[in-house]
Amino acid sequence: MDTQNHYDAIVLGAGPAGLTAGIYLSRARLRTLILSEGTVGGQMVLTHEIANYPGVESVSGYQLSVIMRNQAKKFGCEIRANISVEKLTLDGLVKEVILSDGSIFTADAVILSPGGRSRTLGVSGEEKPKGKGISYCATCDGDFFTNKEIMVVGGGNSALEEAVSLTKYASKVTIVHQFDNFQAFEFAIREAQNHPKINFMMESTISAFHGNEKIEGVGITDLKTGNTQNHPIDGVFIFIGYVPNTEFLEGKIELNRWKEIIADPDMQTNVPGIFAAGDSIAKRYRQVTTAVADGTIAALAASRYIHELNKDKKLQPEKS
Ligand SMILES: Cc1cc2nc3c(=O)[nH]c(=O)nc-3n(C[C@H](O)[C@H](O)[C@H](O)COP(=O)(O)OP(=O)(O)OC[C@H]3O[C@@H](n4cnc5c(N)ncnc54)[C@H](O)[C@@H]3O)c2cc1C
Repeated sequence: MDTQNHYDAIVLGAGPAGLTAGIYLSRARLRTLILSEGTVGGQMVLTHEIANYPGVESVSGYQLSVIMRNQAKKFGCEIRANISVEKLTLDGLVKEVILSDGSIFTADAVILSPGGRSRTLGVSGEEKPKGKGISYCATCDGDFFTNKEIMVVGGGNSALEEAVSLTKYASKVTIVHQFDNFQAFEFAIREAQNHPKINFMMESTISAFHGNEKIEGVGITDLKTGNTQNHPIDGVFIFIGYVPNTEFLEGKIELNRWKEIIADPDMQTNVPGIFAAGDSIAKRYRQVTTAVADGTIAALAASRYIHELNKDKKLQPEKS
């Protein structure tokens, strides 16, 4: 084993979950390496303002990422971003991560925090105004649309529940859904249908987003006739599903049918020495605060695992 490239713990993913795990592990004097396929900060860097992180009244997602990164580095955590994981060996006592540039790293424990991504509509203009009128998180961004007119895309529980919650801020909410019925619980449908601020555009879809700096309008296509009309709008919330970044873990650890990592309350997966944290695990609420909490628990549990492992190693009789 190359001791230079051997770590007590490797964390995969440098979002808030991974960075928090890095802070705790390094502060516990464990040699820690964070490897992240994306930029440091993960989904936080997509957020122009985070106003619900306790202790910081308002901060840009990028700024919060820099603070977390510096905090982890201050304790000695090594971070490599924009890497690509080629191969992962998680079973066995020594875990191995091979990057596409050929570098090989090993560790006693691994924390998986690859996060996830909201399913996007994939239509023209959707990329540009992200964080400037298009949102995938009502809790995060609802407040920015006070007294504004917005649309909600989707027809499941999330879309209907979030549409109702957004009426606290918006003056008018229009739900755009591709089918003529909803795939949600009856009470969620009833609540949305009975709400005076909520309107519906059924059998319709957003086919284009207009606006440069911020969203100014959308093209709505009537799926029955194929006709498209432009509508001015202040914001669009999209709730058409969530995709965890766990493709690389299939067949290696237990995932549920939605490909989310199954972890116990100590963030332990079904493989000894492998822990998970953040948006990629099976859970209901996905926020920076919940990712940070998961990262804390995973790091503490991993520290304990590494400590026990080292105790066992000392008890092993030396080979003559
Ligand atoms: C537009 C937007 C606005 C938001 N606003 C808020 C808000 O205001 N307040 C709030 O609390 N929450 C907000 N959220 C949610 C919050 O950002 C997430 O809940 C949080 O970032 C999840 O943290 P995480 O560490 O689990 O994962 P992520 O932030 O997703 O980070 C995971 C990292 O792992 C990397 N990665 C992926 N695959 C691999 C791999 N195979 N190996 C190594 N690394 C990998 C990714 O590239 C990424 O950098 C927002 C989300 C979005 C999209």
